[in-house]
Amino acid sequence: MTASAHPMHANNDPEGGGRRGRTAVRQGERYSRRAALELLQNTPLGELMRLGHAARMARIPRHQVSYVLDTNPNYTNVCETNCTFCAFCRPEDDPQAYTLKPQELAQRVLRAHQAGATTVLLQGGHNPAVGLKDWVAYIRAIQAVCPAIHIHPFSPSEYVFMAARENMPVAEVLACIYDEGILTMPGGGAEILVEAKRRRIAPRKATAKQWLDTSETAHRLGFRTTATLMYGHLETDDDIISHLFALRRLQDKTGGFRSFIPWSFKPGDSALSREVPAPAHPAKYIRVIATARLVLDNFPHIQSSWFSETPSAGIMGLLAGADDFGGVLMEENVLRQAGHKPSATLARIQEMIRSAGFIPVQRDSHYEMLDV
Ligand code: SF4
Repeated sequence: MTASAHPMHANNDPEGGGRRGRTAVRQGERYSRRAALELLQNTPLGELMRLGHAARMARIPRHQVSYVLDTNPNYTNVCETNCTFCAFCRPEDDPQAYTLKPQELAQRVLRAHQAGATTVLLQGGHNPAVGLKDWVAYIRAIQAVCPAIHIHPFSPSEYVFMAARENMPVAEVLACIYDEGILTMPGGGAEILVEAKRRRIAPRKATAKQWLDTSETAHRLGFRTTATLMYGHLETDDDIISHLFALRRLQDKTGGFRSFIPWSFKPGDSALSREVPAPAHPAKYIRVIATARLVLDNFPHIQSSWFSETPSAGIMGLLAGADDFGGVLMEENVLRQAGHKPSATLARIQEMIRSAGFIPVQRDSHYEMLDV
């Protein structure tokens, strides 16, 4: 869909601030950059939540909140990219370094599947010893033991790394994985899509343009993907708005994003913790979710995560515009390495969703409801 064809493009100045530039926008008008910044920074929290929730109910008028039973094994923790915020990666010669064999990975996935997981979110470090044939072997090993599980593998920055390793265009790597029957791509590694800040926290990672171009190429090949944001580090509120507008522009072009998933930087013992020793206040999470729901008027789903934040912030996010509660994780390593170790049973997840006044509904990775 082109920008001019979008039904909500009533504003002639969709990003420049327009004539009014405050939080109020007329029906059918898009939020300008200035109005979006006003939402994020200055709108009273209760009013912001009311606006976010109203936009959510207009978009998804059912009192349901979805969740997915998933597992998140990492095929390797060896990574040569060394993002300053990462407490997960290890150098190749570190005693804790590992790279799973396809059968090891498949057995982990099988155990999670037998416990109820419907999806495997599969990501790993940028490990030069892992090639495209290894990615294919991981996929085929999982498919052989768990043909019913949805494999949701490899984020845009991993594709960029793999394309460079294999000296292939990103589009060819994507096409190879698509041909293995993979239909979705997780939107990890977006961090902050503002190059100056991105270079400071992840100087060796795929650029903002590469992340966006890879998502666009994936959408054109037929993948459906998600988009993430990591905030609470060196970014400004204006950077967060730039990030949201970059996603909105791409979604206008392709329509390929299914969900927006924000999370806050967890300092742990990462290198960046020396500059940013404390995590963002949970109230910022609510503000980001509500602002995202209002700005990303072309995204179907906004996720509020009990896991990446606190359960109470996750619940509040459901009252501020989110309609998805993320995964009931059966294996997760990245945030645990940063000292973030929450856990919850399925019953507790459902109880949290009910406590916000919604009916919990299990979904799959295509956001299709499984038990309605
Ligand atoms: S965030 Fe990902 S790319 Fe960056 S150092 Fe950690 S594992 Fe590597």
